Amino acid sequence: MIKKNNYIWNNWAGNQSCLSENYFEPETEEQIIEIVRFSGKNKKKIKVVGSGHSFSPIAVSNEILISLKNYRKLISVDKDTVTCQGGMYLYDLYDVLISNKLSFPDFGVINKQTVAGALAAGTHGSSLMHKSLSAQIEKLRIITASGDPVEITRETKWKIDDEEFNLWEAASFSLGSFGIVTEVTLKCDPIFYLKSEESVIDFDEYLKCMDDYAKRYEYFKAWWFPHTDKVYLFKAERIEEEQYHKKEQWIKYTEEQRKRDLQIDKLTSPLFIKSNDDSSLIPEINSFCLDYFFTPRTRIGNCFEILVHDETVPMVVSEYGLSMLDDNHKKALKKFRDILEQSQHKLHFPVDLRYTGAENSYLSPAYKQDTFYIGMCIREYGEEKIHPSMQLFFDVMKKYTACPSWGKLSDLSKSTCEKGFPGFENFKKLRNIIDPDRIFLNVFFEGIF
Ligand SMILES: Cc1cc2nc3c(=O)[nH]c(=O)nc-3n(C[C@H](O)[C@H](O)[C@H](O)COP(=O)(O)OP(=O)(O)OC[C@H]3O[C@@H](n4cnc5c(N)ncnc54)[C@H](O)[C@@H]3O)c2cc1C
Repeated sequence: MIKKNNYIWNNWAGNQSCLSENYFEPETEEQIIEIVRFSGKNKKKIKVVGSGHSFSPIAVSNEILISLKNYRKLISVDKDTVTCQGGMYLYDLYDVLISNKLSFPDFGVINKQTVAGALAAGTHGSSLMHKSLSAQIEKLRIITASGDPVEITRETKWKIDDEEFNLWEAASFSLGSFGIVTEVTLKCDPIFYLKSEESVIDFDEYLKCMDDYAKRYEYFKAWWFPHTDKVYLFKAERIEEEQYHKKEQWIKYTEEQRKRDLQIDKLTSPLFIKSNDDSSLIPEINSFCLDYFFTPRTRIGNCFEILVHDETVPMVVSEYGLSMLDDNHKKALKKFRDILEQSQHKLHFPVDLRYTGAENSYLSPAYKQDTFYIGMCIREYGEEKIHPSMQLFFDVMKKYTACPSWGKLSDLSKSTCEKGFPGFENFKKLRNIIDPDRIFLNVFFEGIF
């Protein structure tokens, strides 16, 4: 097992780092248990780091840090489930699914996260008809603070005083604060095929039709290009496998468009870097990119080809989930547009507009309610200090009681959690029993839990 002292760790975006007293790369579950027992005995805080794709400090630890990069094997796959070690990367898992003609109902945008990391922070895609990846969990094997493995399924119940709790609702989205997830079993669907229609509309038109599209298309998301008043739509529906095999007949996506898409990161990265020194360039960059790269098209592919993308230029991201009751989500989005456009602040594209269906994990912004997410990014910005355009976003979201996404940047506090997450108290109660010495809470969580 690799061990290092005074190990410096940085996340993917470069805005979070820590200096860990002890860093380990265990290769067996016995070694993981040994490290947890060592932490418990010495009252040291312990966190596992996945692939560092969270923007918030949820994975940092100045005491003990573990990476499961040597604990990432496939355990089994059958006709409707897959079981793997917690450190497996999503891209490896997706290869297994594809070769077994399997899939999940929805996916986050990229495939670089680890399985346990993506589940811990509730990674989601965009479909009102589906939930986040955590909803696929059938079983979790967790090494708890005592060093004992616990297996949690959808049926695992705990009685506290006279009240019965379903442990899955807490453990399925636990930010690593229940213990170390060593094995995961996820429910799978058969692989499916999609036709994606992509086009541009005006922002005000989008506001009118967004919910109708979200109900009509199984997969629907949109990218608002700030300072252009335009929105790029992605509307995807299932097609039969035969249509996929005859895809050349349906595709409207020229070779030139494909070539441009391959160049997008190389061409835009220097523009974003420059615009961080001179933000007056941003409206023109957004407008140029919309016209040059985001042209209307029809694409056909399997679900992975349409819904999962490669990595993108470095950025920091904030995202909040909003209730759709009484058009709260539309009001919040419109207010953000109006305030941003009236201010001197400028914002890179895209503002990512997504939906997910109601789900049962306590810490999900979509807990028991259909949810609309607004995500914004500052590209080529790796500073810890919150960017002023992002602060403006936080301020607007607060007014609409939006719930932050845990892996993204936000002004998350104990009171936001109590107001925004109805299952927060239940989560805390269960967490405190499973980890009474609070070894799985880092400094960031200590202030919140
Ligand atoms: C370019 C980019 C695109 C993204 N796209 C999306 C998207 O489409 N949808 C979305 O919802 N999010 C998205 N995210 C956010 C990302 O999916 C989450 O932040 C996810 O948690 C990152 O996984 P990771 O493996 O990098 O975990 P890390 O960020 O390393 O860790 C996340 C949390 O998981 C815990 N953890 C990791 N492994 C374990 C384990 N074995 N046991 C217990 N706890 C563990 C960590 O301690 C930490 O609390 C994106 C991020 C980036 C950088």
